[in-house]
Amino acid sequence: MLRQYSRAIHWFRRDLRLTDNTALREATIHSGEVIPLYILSHWEKNHAWTGGKRQKFLCECLDSLAGNIDHLGGELIIRKGDAVSEILKLVRESKAEAVYFNEDVDPFGQEIEARLKKESPVPVHSYQDAALHGPEDVLKGDGTPYRVYTPFSKRWIPLEKPKPKGRPKQLKSPVGIKSLPLPTLKTWGLQDEDWETVPGGEKAARQRMKEALSGRLARYEDTRDIPSVLGTSRLSQDLRWGTLSIRELYQKSRQCGSAQYLKELAWREFYFQILHHFPDVLQWEFNSVWRGLPWDEPEEQFEAWKTGQTGIPIIDAGIRELLTTGFMHNRVRMIVAMFLTKDLHLDWRLGEQFFAQHLLDGEIASNNGGWQWSAGTGADAAPYFRIQNPWSQTKRFDPNGEYIRRWLPELRNVDPKLFQMSPEKDQSIAPNYPHPIIDHAEERLQTLAIFKKHREQQR
Ligand SMILES: Cc1cc2nc3c(=O)[nH]c(=O)nc-3n(C[C@H](O)[C@H](O)[C@H](O)COP(=O)(O)OP(=O)(O)OC[C@H]3O[C@@H](n4cnc5c(N)ncnc54)[C@H](O)[C@@H]3O)c2cc1C
Repeated sequence: MLRQYSRAIHWFRRDLRLTDNTALREATIHSGEVIPLYILSHWEKNHAWTGGKRQKFLCECLDSLAGNIDHLGGELIIRKGDAVSEILKLVRESKAEAVYFNEDVDPFGQEIEARLKKESPVPVHSYQDAALHGPEDVLKGDGTPYRVYTPFSKRWIPLEKPKPKGRPKQLKSPVGIKSLPLPTLKTWGLQDEDWETVPGGEKAARQRMKEALSGRLARYEDTRDIPSVLGTSRLSQDLRWGTLSIRELYQKSRQCGSAQYLKELAWREFYFQILHHFPDVLQWEFNSVWRGLPWDEPEEQFEAWKTGQTGIPIIDAGIRELLTTGFMHNRVRMIVAMFLTKDLHLDWRLGEQFFAQHLLDGEIASNNGGWQWSAGTGADAAPYFRIQNPWSQTKRFDPNGEYIRRWLPELRNVDPKLFQMSPEKDQSIAPNYPHPIIDHAEERLQTLAIFKKHREQQR
């Protein structure tokens, strides 16, 4: 076959797999040799939006990717620094004739892409890969973006979905290109802290997908809201880092028959398109009525929330699950997020950043969407007066206290009924467990008053 280029670079980003990787596939079709490249960022200079568990997961994904590339006859090249400068340097060094990459879904990544396209002396080819449908593909009849999930999903669900395209049979890359070693936690001055994170990498992700598809997702509708049960896919980190292809996952999960699961995938793409069309959501409340709400200053109560010491078991269990595993069940995320904003009256941006540091699946669009939904400020958000009561949520979703007891060893021998109601003043649920830091009924009334007053002032 006549190839367009003799040598091209494939820049890996949030697509850390070989299977059904759109840009990589195009690079291998159109170029005789492909240089697979990953560029480490100077993470140690920006602790705000990532953390140790995520970096560990990234190291594992890169290890696995390097092994898979080696198996096909190539070599993963690692560089560190500003992505555009590093790519241009490699183009010069290697005499590559083109650059391929899959597009990012967030404005920071997109800014780098625009710079690369402007500054590159060789053609740059980019592809939509992270979603089933790009943000411009699902618009209202008048060409404007959706702001509400249900009409978006009604349009999204029946659209024909792209099919997965397999993996390259070989990957020929040139020899003698300089590379940094694969990163370890030490690269960023970190140490493993006995985290219980799931292993990263394409092989581990495919194994997780296989397990989820062999029965679990067929029961999804019945089990997805129960945090003590492994009842959801647990594949969010693999979609975030691209160790699974969304096209392959969609096709396989369609066959296992849970319509509700497909609707959750639509939520992911709903928030992608919200971020694309309304990038200001990263700074501001999506619903402009709620801009300028008077949030409290983060003090001891925020520390108690961040360390799982609020004295409200479902909140503390959720945070401790997050700190240990880098994951928190969706139902618990909603309770924990609403508690921060509606019981502690703290700015949703504080919670958004904390989640981003700890969640393996930390995804700018979904995290922002989830936080703004919980705060009542976002696109299609919970109305401000819908304030979940953490005690009654516990009764409903963890009636036997299994989830709470798993994550709070100090409560292992406590009657689970005590997790469902606030203890009397100055009492606590167990001797070595704190008294609740707030009274939910009082804080709820205060939140209603704050939101109402703010809305009136906007009129
Ligand atoms: C405050 C808050 C913050 C969140 N932050 C993130 C985040 O950073 N990254 C993230 O992927 N999800 C986020 N979510 C959504 C949701 O909690 C997770 O996607 C889900 O818990 C992941 O577990 P799973 O893969 O087993 O999900 P499943 O229940 O199996 O769902 C299937 C897939 O659909 C997508 N999905 C499901 N629910 C949502 C949703 N509400 N919004 C967007 N996508 C969804 C995910 O990709 C998920 O893997 C957040 C939710 C809240 C309330």
